Amino acid sequence: MKVLIYPHPSLRKKAKTVKQIDGNIRQLARQMLDLMYKEGGVGLAATQVGKPIRLIVVNLSKKPSDEIVLINPQINFSQGKIEEVEGCLSLPGISARVTRYQQIMGEAISLEGRQITFDFRDLLSRIIQHEIDHLDGILFIDRLTESARKEIASQLKTLEEKTKLL
Ligand code: ZN
Repeated sequence: MKVLIYPHPSLRKKAKTVKQIDGNIRQLARQMLDLMYKEGGVGLAATQVGKPIRLIVVNLSKKPSDEIVLINPQINFSQGKIEEVEGCLSLPGISARVTRYQQIMGEAISLEGRQITFDFRDLLSRIIQHEIDHLDGILFIDRLTESARKEIASQLKTLEEKTKLL
């Protein structure tokens, strides 16, 4: 398993709802967490490893007790706007300021198959919004202001050409 790099077409796929949480799903979540740690990321969506299903993993601290796995996450409430620099394992070396909601509340299914509610603020809120975007085929570069997009245009082009050669 590896992290797909922009502009891989699988990154643009809309992921499907998970119907059943079984051993395969639990194993996928574990592998994604381990890959995320190895790559030095704080979040990873299943679409980034070529699995078009609605599953994300997040951990800000790398402590096992802080691992967050959300299946079929859905945001029902959001408020406040904050602009911060963001990056993505699928867009190595590229970062830009993105406006996100300061707080999000919603629901998901846990790895144990339980319906759960969530309430995230600040950085965790930002990361979860970024990862849920991935499930809809949206990348952070889609959410930039015109000027921010211009600033990273040449880096994007370089990445597109580099990936083409692989
Ligand atoms: Zn990302």
